[in-house]
Amino acid sequence: MQPATELYTLEQGLRLRQASAVEREAVQLAMLRRHLTLAQKAPHYREMFASVGFSPARLDSLTDLPVLPLTSRADIDRSPTSLLPATGLPPVDLALTSGTTGRPVTIPYTAHDLERLAYNEMMAFYGAGVRPGDRALLFVTLDRCFIAGLAYYSGLVRLGAAAIRGGPGKPPQHWELIANLRPTVLVGVPSFLLKLARWGEENGLAPAQSGVTALVTIGEPVRRADMTLTPLGALLQQAWGARLHASYGATEMATAFGECTAGCGGHVHPELMLAEIIDEQGRPVAPGEPGEVVVTPLGVEGFPLVRFRTGDVARLHHEPCPCGWQTPRLGPIEGRLAQRLKYKGTTLYPESIFQVLQEVPGVRDFYLEVSSSYDLSDEIRVVVGGGDISLEKIRDMLQARLRVMPEVVVRPAAEVLAVIESGGSRKVKRFFDLREVAR
Ligand SMILES: [Zn+2]
Repeated sequence: MQPATELYTLEQGLRLRQASAVEREAVQLAMLRRHLTLAQKAPHYREMFASVGFSPARLDSLTDLPVLPLTSRADIDRSPTSLLPATGLPPVDLALTSGTTGRPVTIPYTAHDLERLAYNEMMAFYGAGVRPGDRALLFVTLDRCFIAGLAYYSGLVRLGAAAIRGGPGKPPQHWELIANLRPTVLVGVPSFLLKLARWGEENGLAPAQSGVTALVTIGEPVRRADMTLTPLGALLQQAWGARLHASYGATEMATAFGECTAGCGGHVHPELMLAEIIDEQGRPVAPGEPGEVVVTPLGVEGFPLVRFRTGDVARLHHEPCPCGWQTPRLGPIEGRLAQRLKYKGTTLYPESIFQVLQEVPGVRDFYLEVSSSYDLSDEIRVVVGGGDISLEKIRDMLQARLRVMPEVVVRPAAEVLAVIESGGSRKVKRFFDLREVAR
């Protein structure tokens, strides 16, 4: 069987990003037809397409895509095997993603899917100003069935830049790598990269003089919806004296968005995905308005999803980007729908509270505990770790910025750190949902 799509070269990819919308959409329409034809080989989509009387061959326009039903994580959890197309293509990598029920779901990648992922990250790194000759130190690595580390690694290799597989470990080992191998790019979780910089400063090493010029981040937002830096993003940029590029993806969609040198949202890679933003009723929102991010990857063979609901809230920006690429950009993730809080008549996301806490002097780490209250409001408890912290200051800042007054407790920094790192995951856990009914 032919691969789902032929992959472009770097030059072809760059040309497509500078092409007019009409040219890009013609390419995307052909790719979407092939993608839907492949998806239809999976029982779930065969039944779904039949139920709405849809045939990929009759697709005339990208605007027809929303006639197809959405695919949620719950659909995937219910019957992951019904989403596997009968193509006979063997998976060569089995990635795991945490399902909505806590039971991991296996996402198979074919050899072509891995090549496609490498292409995705090659374009993202190139957009972020990374070139052959750069050296990237990766703190997100290939182990534990995560796909992101593999994607970064293979993207760097495809680009012709040097990958340094640092992985997890202690700051002294990381600083030894920085001193010996002189990376120009660091790839990791923002709070981790900040801790690494702080350890360096405390031990007489100067992060801003280390030769690192770019940070590619994953997992925590470094920008607000208006593209200004979050407190964490600002501290990070200042500590390393380097430009910031956020990346965002999901294992299920086998695709990631990456920020270019303009640092104003992650570009849609036109030959790899279609992105939509929908409201709670599943309708498209007005351009620039927030809503749930829905992605249809293009050219995926192993697990070809259609209109995948990410559960994440962000905005899509269509104005031309200063970098010269004409493709839309996905703004920072503003929250996760499952973590949305209803607090005394206000709706907010944990991330808004985290961004306030990042600005409080003396606060080292923090997490939220949320439980149900009898009046359908959520009970929020903010737990912060550190030494000399003013509870009053925290309450005042939360009240001033967010108009909320949750319970705030201060605990020893080590105790808070132990809680947020207890999951042993690549990311620290800052949100503990004890509500009776998951939303
Ligand atoms: Zn750009």
